[in-house]
Amino acid sequence: MLNAALAEGRYVTDELKMFHDTARRFMQAEVAPNVVRWDEQGHVDRELWNKAGELGLLCPSIPVEYGGGGGDVAFEKVLIEEQGRAGCSAWGLSLHNGIVAHYILAYGTEEQKQAWLPKLASGEIVGAIAMTEPGTGSDLQSVRTTAIADGDDYVVNGQKVFITNGQQAGLVIVVAKTDPNEKAKGISLVVVETDKVEGFRRGRNLEKVGMHGQDTSELFFENVRIPKANLLGKGEGMGFVQLMEQLPQERLIVAWAAVAAMELALDLTTQYVKDRKAFGKRVIDFQNTRFQLAQARTEATLARVFVERCTEMLIDKKLDVVTAAMAKYWTTDKQFEIADLCLQLHGGYGYMDEYPISRLWRDSRVQRIYGGTNEIMKELIGRFL
Ligand SMILES: Cc1cc2nc3c(=O)[nH]c(=O)nc-3n(C[C@H](O)[C@H](O)[C@H](O)COP(=O)(O)OP(=O)(O)OC[C@H]3O[C@@H](n4cnc5c(N)ncnc54)[C@H](O)[C@@H]3O)c2cc1C
Repeated sequence: MLNAALAEGRYVTDELKMFHDTARRFMQAEVAPNVVRWDEQGHVDRELWNKAGELGLLCPSIPVEYGGGGGDVAFEKVLIEEQGRAGCSAWGLSLHNGIVAHYILAYGTEEQKQAWLPKLASGEIVGAIAMTEPGTGSDLQSVRTTAIADGDDYVVNGQKVFITNGQQAGLVIVVAKTDPNEKAKGISLVVVETDKVEGFRRGRNLEKVGMHGQDTSELFFENVRIPKANLLGKGEGMGFVQLMEQLPQERLIVAWAAVAAMELALDLTTQYVKDRKAFGKRVIDFQNTRFQLAQARTEATLARVFVERCTEMLIDKKLDVVTAAMAKYWTTDKQFEIADLCLQLHGGYGYMDEYPISRLWRDSRVQRIYGGTNEIMKELIGRFL
């Protein structure tokens, strides 16, 4: 349906196309058939990470010397799109690959990169990033978790909530105050290797409106001792700057998923309205259906073209905070609107769990909340008007 030329960024190479084929085959064979089961069990199978690691699907945009695939972020994009096409919101792959590994690559010392990146790339450990706390989400400067220096260690205390991959993570990047008297300047990123410490506890795997197969969890840190060598970056107090620097990529990751979900919803719905009959006609024969789908297709195409351009900018290291915020808020708002329209066009069947559109609708809601809420995105854009 989509004119392929609109979606072909100038970053597409033969190597990327081959990787894309591998990603598609893996997602269709290993992911799509398990989506319903993972929703029921509340997490993906732990072996999925190792299987993906064996095929080179973990950390494809991390340099080869650290166990990665040596590609650019377009390799992450095709993975996210194929996961979206497989209808899977359960697997926190994009967070592990595109966010956690990239913090370590960007700010880690050589020893940190050598120690952690190969394990993330093989699936030996799963990554998570813990920013949000029960008392603060959007206002990250107000985090209360502390990492206080004590001899050669930091002692970490605090509570985190809504942490993606929370039940399976073996490496958690924790946003903590090394200086609790400061706001942004007191924040540092410290790495907790969960099986090497005492005092770390996983809380509930939280029950959610959607993304039922994703192990979004509470995490507790009670006098957790980590070596000072686990501070990410060159000195204390750099955490807030590091978070800000990584945000454009994180937001584009959300936008990539939004576009893939919109396209899948429209494909499924177009087929459905061609098959379903009412008043002696196909549902697509009602002008209302055609007009609504024509509009939604146009919007999904606009979203696709915009994120393709943003991808080129990200690869060229030119994606700025404002453009990334625009991409995140607009594509996720549209994803939700289009999922809702598509559910409506399925009638009562759209509300039934056995129809994939119901999952696409449920899962679309949170895209407007995480990765920075869409209100925060508008705040950011507004600041630069
Ligand atoms: C499924 C899921 C997965 C998640 N994964 C992770 C994860 O892996 N790691 C992690 O650290 N966090 C994660 N989060 C947390 C997520 O990033 C936060 O929920 C989000 O940033 C919002 O924070 P909050 O929930 O505290 O809402 P609040 O910050 O309390 O916001 C409440 C409302 O106030 C609005 N608001 C707040 N400030 C302003 C303002 N200045 N101007 C206008 N409106 C404002 C918000 O937009 C929102 O509508 C996840 C959340 C979910 C639901």
